[in-house]
Amino acid sequence: MASMVTLEIVTPDRKVLSEDVEYVGAPGALGEFGILPNHVPFLSALGIGNLHYKLGGKTYYVFVAGGFAEVSHNKCTVLAEVAEMAHEIDVDRAQKAQQRAEQRAQQAKEKLEHARHQAALKRSVARISCNRAGKDAGTC
Ligand code: ATP
Repeated sequence: MASMVTLEIVTPDRKVLSEDVEYVGAPGALGEFGILPNHVPFLSALGIGNLHYKLGGKTYYVFVAGGFAEVSHNKCTVLAEVAEMAHEIDVDRAQKAQQRAEQRAQQAKEKLEHARHQAALKRSVARISCNRAGKDAGTC
């Protein structure tokens, strides 16, 4: 029985992470899911939120938005549309994006426009909370 699962996180632009870890928790489109070593094959769409993984008694946080996670042969592959490690997050930028999205969502006249700004708001709030969680955990 393996004691670790290989976590690989990639976006269309870059490889964000490749690491053997003890646990992965991720924001599935239908809710949070957790992956331990020796997990059965699994596929899920990703929502907007914070993935976390455990290694050596520490918890690390990664912001992800959209894409898929696949588990097969003790490897968890995250193909995210956008992903940033907690330490890579520019909190000032995320706060500005939050203010902008809040204003625009309020002013939006069409449903689709409103939904677009709500999604931007969700990304900015998740980025801020990801960075904070990393700092609180001492891993960012
Ligand atoms: P913004 O309005 O600030 O661009 P956004 O949510 O619209 O935010 P995305 O479309 O999710 O941005 O991402 C575009 C690119 O910018 C991606 O490469 C993403 O990793 C990066 N990015 C966006 N916001 C941040 C941030 N606060 N810190 C670091 N990278 C960011």
